[in-house]
Amino acid sequence: MKVVHNAQLCEAHGVCTAVDPARFELDDNDELTVHEAEVSEADLPTVRDAVDSCPRQALSLAAD
Ligand code: SF4
Repeated sequence: MKVVHNAQLCEAHGVCTAVDPARFELDDNDELTVHEAEVSEADLPTVRDAVDSCPRQALSLAAD
């Protein structure tokens, strides 16, 4: 699975960065960086939590 970020929907709420700070990071300009798009089975629950928590539905999971 891959996590996909839609920058046009993102409003830099930072919920994803709180849920999974190792993967998601906001910079000083409120631009979100996804450090690793590929999601392992072990990380899937955390990433799914981040996807579900985004108030803008700016994150989604996609098959490889
Ligand atoms: S939670 Fe959603 S809107 Fe907020 S920074 Fe993450 S992707 Fe963007």
